[in-house]
Amino acid sequence: MSQWASGNACTPTSQPNSNCTHGGWPEYVVRATTLRHVQLAVKFARNQNIRLVIKNSGHDFNGKSIGGYSLSVWTRNLKGMTYDPNYTSPTGSYTGRAVAYAAGTQASEGSTLMRQKNMVMIVAGGSTVGIAGGFLQGGGHSAYTSYYGLAADQVLAITAVTADGRVVEAHEGENADLFWAFRGGGGGNPSHQKGNPTATDQRSGTFGIVTSIVVKAFPATSITSGSVRFSTTPDRGSSAPPISAETFWAGMRAYWEFSIAICDAGGLGYSFIYPSSSSAGLTFTVSISVPNKTTTQYRQFVRPLLQKLNDLGIQQPMPTLKRSLTLSFPYENDPTNKASPLSKRVIGETTGHTLIASRFFPRTTFSTPSTLETSHLAIRHVVENGSLTFHGMNYAPTLSVSGNPNNSVNPAFRTTVLHAQAYESNAHWDGKAPILSHEALTERHQRLQGYMQGWRNVTPGSGSYINEGDAQEWEWKEAFFGSNYERLARMKREWDPEGVFWAIGGVGSDEWEVRDLDGGKREGIVTQDGRLCKVG
Ligand SMILES: Cc1cc2nc3c(=O)[nH]c(=O)nc-3n(C[C@H](O)[C@H](O)[C@H](O)COP(=O)(O)OP(=O)(O)OC[C@H]3O[C@@H](n4cnc5c(N)ncnc54)[C@H](O)[C@@H]3O)c2cc1C
Repeated sequence: MSQWASGNACTPTSQPNSNCTHGGWPEYVVRATTLRHVQLAVKFARNQNIRLVIKNSGHDFNGKSIGGYSLSVWTRNLKGMTYDPNYTSPTGSYTGRAVAYAAGTQASEGSTLMRQKNMVMIVAGGSTVGIAGGFLQGGGHSAYTSYYGLAADQVLAITAVTADGRVVEAHEGENADLFWAFRGGGGGNPSHQKGNPTATDQRSGTFGIVTSIVVKAFPATSITSGSVRFSTTPDRGSSAPPISAETFWAGMRAYWEFSIAICDAGGLGYSFIYPSSSSAGLTFTVSISVPNKTTTQYRQFVRPLLQKLNDLGIQQPMPTLKRSLTLSFPYENDPTNKASPLSKRVIGETTGHTLIASRFFPRTTFSTPSTLETSHLAIRHVVENGSLTFHGMNYAPTLSVSGNPNNSVNPAFRTTVLHAQAYESNAHWDGKAPILSHEALTERHQRLQGYMQGWRNVTPGSGSYINEGDAQEWEWKEAFFGSNYERLARMKREWDPEGVFWAIGGVGSDEWEVRDLDGGKREGIVTQDGRLCKVG
């Protein structure tokens, strides 16, 4: 989670005299280990008019899993996972491999089960991310996104606690509308109104607390991957000739030209561009992974890209290849990836303070030389002029690769070939500089959104990934939910008429606002260290 979201309540410090405040952290936490605990917490908070938040892994960048003056339901310890090779879904429309798991299951546990049972299920690349909470409910991409679709596309049945404290089943034959909404409509923090007891109309957030889930699984599907890296600052000890910034960007254009082929091969291009102001200098790294290819086929597949880069004067040997059943994020296990955000850290350096924003670039924006050039320049502008770090994922979870699911996944996911992110690598506090003031953070946020406008301009009608986007995105309804927004808002009114659930950037979240303890309205970037009150 980004530290700023808590109101910078208690940042790790090397300054002995610094203080902590309570900030956006909850007052009490229910460490739920049974479904009954979840029910009691929801009922208690609702009856006592207390703001309630759900925390699973606590990974959400925008601070969705915290909330000031709240009771927190912590779902991480709701454990249990079983594999059934011959599962039949409640309506009988699906028979085959499936995994049932509880709300607190994390990606690494899914990966372990995959190895044990020799099958594949969709889990996050980050090993500690929860796979039933925000990840799945907001979409959930993985190394198999272009091959099997998103995590939300695999769901066969859901058990959840709704705003009235009931346990409900949701699948295509029962509570089908709720089933539709949970699969893409976004995770949410339950909260209760603390300011205006007479407010009755539309509430915000999502639809309930998922306690367990059944998802499709697939036959073991190996992934072959290799990395490409080039930089204006060559690696120490490297014999490669240095390249100019212009050559670097020509190399980037060559990569974009190739990137559609990665999607069409069912693969993933997982990349970073670090700006010249970064410690690595202007640097591009990409891990290209493709399912179901032998190493010979893989080499054949990437050769045209390597050839093009070599022709440009960017020396590229054939990468060392890895074949595996599951794929972790390269930055989690590649100690040589010095520029990576999760590589070795020094005291006081927090990765969790980042302002992040995202945009889906549709296939059309890379399909002709002129649209490709426009997209390339828009990305270059953000890195070069904005000094922002670019993080890209080339994947394509089209409806057909995803099995034509009927769910509320952001329609912009279905046409994308690039999930592009930009973040302020220097928005975090470095252990020496003073923590950024609210005004300074607000200014940086405005700046980031200003750069996002450039991406919005070249991707009209597309969207942004709610789980890795900016919850305070200028056009958040269209960006996170697209044409599904109105239906989701209706569902919200139906399933949560009292407004028990709320999440920043969630459906209907503009009906509520975070205020100071004395009721004072806040300006600028929204942090969670206040009361949640009905707007108006
Ligand atoms: C290191 C790292 C790696 C990541 N890797 C990926 C990746 O590979 N693919 C990807 O798509 N995203 C990835 N993400 C983004 C991730 O999807 C989001 O951070 C997501 O919100 C995490 O969900 P969570 O439930 O684990 O986190 P939390 O922060 O605990 O929860 C996030 C939101 O979901 C709600 N929620 C949680 N549990 C439930 C529940 N049981 N019922 C209802 N609502 C619930 C919470 O209230 C909150 O609003 C990554 C993030 C990080 C930090």
